[in-house]
Amino acid sequence: MSNASRFYSLNDFLKERHQEKVMKLSLDGGYTCPNRDGKVASGGCIFCSSRGSGDFTSSSTKSITEQMQDNIELLSNKWPNVKKYMPYFQAYSSTYASLDILQKQYEEALSFPGVVGLAIATRPDCLEDDVLEYLSTLNQRTHLWVELGLQTIHPTTSKFINRGHDLACFEEAVYKLHHLGIEVVAHMIIGLPYESREDILATASYISKLPLQGVKMHMLHVVDNAPLGKLYTKEPFSLLSEDEYVEIVGEVLKILPPHFVIHRLTGDGDRTHLIAPLWTVRKTLVLNHIHKYLKEHDIYQGGK
Ligand code: SF4
Repeated sequence: MSNASRFYSLNDFLKERHQEKVMKLSLDGGYTCPNRDGKVASGGCIFCSSRGSGDFTSSSTKSITEQMQDNIELLSNKWPNVKKYMPYFQAYSSTYASLDILQKQYEEALSFPGVVGLAIATRPDCLEDDVLEYLSTLNQRTHLWVELGLQTIHPTTSKFINRGHDLACFEEAVYKLHHLGIEVVAHMIIGLPYESREDILATASYISKLPLQGVKMHMLHVVDNAPLGKLYTKEPFSLLSEDEYVEIVGEVLKILPPHFVIHRLTGDGDRTHLIAPLWTVRKTLVLNHIHKYLKEHDIYQGGK
């Protein structure tokens, strides 16, 4: 953790590991998801957009190389001097394909100049033995991490959001990856329907005891291209205000151990589809609000 920081940011982690800033490039490998195609369920998690939560990726009709070039061009105004990249297979379940297809796409991403590793987001029930074996070999030659969607530990919420796997499945996947020496990142959504502040902190507490590299958190986004959008429009439920969100993030950070990398503290929903909460679109302001709150309350990751 840098001295100036009250939490261990992904930026700090990547700079430490690769000696300079690394740009994450979001990709859509054209996969689908067993929670959408009927294998586990259909309809998907109710918060998941029609782009499979890959709203900022280029079109999957483009090759992996083209998508990476698009990303770099888009981000070059912000970071003109960054020359190291972390391709991130983000959309849908990015291990849900045959090993041949996965290998072809991951290797294409890894062969791009300046690439220092690979990040893959998937479901815990999409890690077949042959895929795990391949990931293990990848892990020997590059900086690999796998992101798994947990969102909540509570079965009632999990059922409500149609997550389609239980906590045991998530935990098993974490340990399988961990035993192979692969870094694991857990996704957590703050503000899921009908969850209390205590429910959210219980999820954070559970996460804090796992052998994880990091955590990615964001406020629930209600978008009109996900089932939750229709549900909310018909029967609105209460959503966290920005102040409530910031306060909960502070509490979550206190619970998480200092060595966990914080991949994200707030997300930027796709504003063309966002129904609520509208404060989430001002991502920089929300981040500033979180930093200010942490300072005012003298909060550090891991307690204090
Ligand atoms: S598992 Fe991921 S891709 Fe599949 S429906 Fe849920 S959020 Fe979307």
